[in-house]
Amino acid sequence: MKFKKLHLTITLCLYAFVINAQDTVQYKLFYSENSSKVAIEVYFKSIEAKETVLMIPRSAPGTYELTDYSAFVGNVKAITNTNKTINGTLGMGSFFIFNSSESLQAVTYEVDIKKMEQELLGAYASSKLRNNYLGILGYSVFGFIEGLENKPIKLELQVPKHWPIFSTLQPSVNRKKGKATYEVANFSLLADAQYLLGNDVKVQQVNNAPIPFYIAAYSEAEINIEEIGRRGLLALNGLNNYFGFIPMPHYTICYEFIKPISNRHDYGFSMEHLNSMTASMPITKAIKTFDPKANIGSTIHHIGHSWLPLRSYGTGYKPFEWQTAPLIETIWLNEGFIWYISYYHVLNRKPILNFFKKILNSAPGYIKEKSLKDLSLLGSTQYSLDFRIGRNLFSRGALLAYELDEKIKKDTNNAKSFKDVIIGLMEWTKKHKRAFNYNEIESIISKSVGVDVSDVWKKWQKPLN
Ligand SMILES: [Zn+2]
Repeated sequence: MKFKKLHLTITLCLYAFVINAQDTVQYKLFYSENSSKVAIEVYFKSIEAKETVLMIPRSAPGTYELTDYSAFVGNVKAITNTNKTINGTLGMGSFFIFNSSESLQAVTYEVDIKKMEQELLGAYASSKLRNNYLGILGYSVFGFIEGLENKPIKLELQVPKHWPIFSTLQPSVNRKKGKATYEVANFSLLADAQYLLGNDVKVQQVNNAPIPFYIAAYSEAEINIEEIGRRGLLALNGLNNYFGFIPMPHYTICYEFIKPISNRHDYGFSMEHLNSMTASMPITKAIKTFDPKANIGSTIHHIGHSWLPLRSYGTGYKPFEWQTAPLIETIWLNEGFIWYISYYHVLNRKPILNFFKKILNSAPGYIKEKSLKDLSLLGSTQYSLDFRIGRNLFSRGALLAYELDEKIKKDTNNAKSFKDVIIGLMEWTKKHKRAFNYNEIESIISKSVGVDVSDVWKKWQKPLN
């Protein structure tokens, strides 16, 4: 792109000094109207070309699958310290390398958003591009320079000048147009966020919410954003009533209601993030009218993930190995504990236990004969590929949560409950600032409620038959 090259030569001189002084990594995202691609530029303190690796995510926390985002990355280049442009080449995995004897100060590349949406059949995994809308999932476009993933980042977004800019990093109804900047502590937070750009994005702050709470929506059918907000607030308040606190400084529900682009594409799945969730729905699910009986289970579940696992997690979930789909032993905890809280407590649907039991009873042999940990390791890359794996994981986790709840309530005369298990896990993470290991979980739980839960724990570790 001509625009990009011209821009590079002007800005490089300006940024080189600042970047060197602050050790901040500067990201820029450009989108110009009618293009099917976004251009990304990453500026950093100079590194020798032979040591520079541009890593492109191949999975994201909570997806439990491989997603080959590098397939949509092209035109990878680097700028040397003497302002020469060199080409990047794809390495042996989801990364690009640079063959030069010089040092590099920037890498640039393009991401084909149209191709991404066409090729990724799960709508939740893809960014989207329409005439007046660009919906960006951070991890689908941003890569990082290996070794710099923990450095602070300054992000600049540049879009057509009449386009409003919204990001879950700093949600606001007062949107800047054309250009906006954000500062984030590290790559993981940049990747976790969403960026909703363009005139067809509606943003509303929900009134009377316990924290700044936003709905940001793009829809190809008529929607009622007040009703979306009402349902979202019900979900948030339900979780607040259960836990007694909200750990998020603010929260955004990002909605897309899309005309399916093919009948092979899958809509209706949602994804959790630190302070937001995304829901990519078909237009047949457009929320139009007040419905006191509307099913808000999925919204409760995805907001609930902001407590766990986003703020307390096992090995593999965080720090996340972006270039692969890492092995995770605790998917049953991530999913099952939140399923249990969402349906059994917040929605007060006690028969949900029968649903979980039915899933266990009807599981195929290869799932039944796996221990809890082994099934989670299997689910790390194929949670929904054979959804009997995913359903079995959350059902085992939910039934374990139920039995813990009953035992804790009984042994403490109702002074403590499963809620204190989650609080105990979150406090442990706050104190230790790391993922918990598998063999630490039982003792964290027992200590935080003052009850020996080892019997329940051991029972659920075993295969089902
Ligand atoms: Zn979930």
